Amino acid sequence: MTINPSIKQLLILSGKGGTGKTTIAAAFSKLAGRSVVADCDVDAADLFILLKPEVKEKTEFHGGKKAVINQDLCSRCEFCLQSCRFDAIVDYSVDEVLCEGCGFCFRICPSNAIEFNKNLSGHLFDCRIPENREFLYAKLLPGEGNSGKLVTELKKKASAYCTQKEKEWLIIDGPPGIGCPVNASLSGVDAVLLVTEPTLSGLHDLKRIVRLVQSFKVYTAVVINKHDINKEVAEQIENYLHQENISLAGKISFDEKVVTALQQEKSILEYPENIAAQEILTIWNSLQTIRIKI
Ligand code: SF4
Ligand code: SF4
Repeated sequence: MTINPSIKQLLILSGKGGTGKTTIAAAFSKLAGRSVVADCDVDAADLFILLKPEVKEKTEFHGGKKAVINQDLCSRCEFCLQSCRFDAIVDYSVDEVLCEGCGFCFRICPSNAIEFNKNLSGHLFDCRIPENREFLYAKLLPGEGNSGKLVTELKKKASAYCTQKEKEWLIIDGPPGIGCPVNASLSGVDAVLLVTEPTLSGLHDLKRIVRLVQSFKVYTAVVINKHDINKEVAEQIENYLHQENISLAGKISFDEKVVTALQQEKSILEYPENIAAQEILTIWNSLQTIRIKI
């Protein structure tokens, strides 16, 4: 599928959870006019709580296949028990959690007693939010892997909406950390906004995610959330960004209203008189220049 080159994909990431990434993503999703919004945190999606979408369609996601032994056909030869590298077959039954879906047992069973079926790994939700915009999120079922594959599926669908409906922005709330789903979320984006907090662990996590993002050679900017709770570390972060030649998109002050907004499951923009909302608005406006650079 060809992606419309005029669409700008903005991915919001943080080195770990709890930095305020979703608060910012929710605010941007309101500010970005002609846009599609996607929550790629498939292990713990929460943007839907703030956006209160109307679910239009729920589709199954099959991340792979799993083996199942048909007891009526099994001759108890034990080939599969001895051959499974993951020790997933016990007492002539496959342990669903341990089965990695390699299909080897299915191929070697002399009695054709093993079925190799598609495995339901999660669901993808196709939703509508105000101003007739699309919002997509997904949930992986407990214990299921393949989160990277689900993120790729989600982004593919969101990009297709952008192209079909000629949207300007694809706003993506990314997964926390630096694992496989983050890699999947980074693929093909135009710009990354990293959200960090002024703590030593925040700086450490920021450095890790910066190393990962730099390998994708994508435009990167950073927001320091609650910058005023530790001005000394906030300054260290600014110095680090300067050394690495990374833009500081802006700083957000600690504001009790952010906590209130989260408790009331609302976007911070619904409290326009507070300082954090004003600062987020300023950051969003500054990001408009990215559209020219990328
Ligand atoms: S290889 Fe097939 S027949 Fe042999 S124990 Fe496994 S399931 Fe049963
Ligand atoms: S599909 Fe692979 S991992 Fe799963 S039980 Fe068979 S051999 Fe083991």
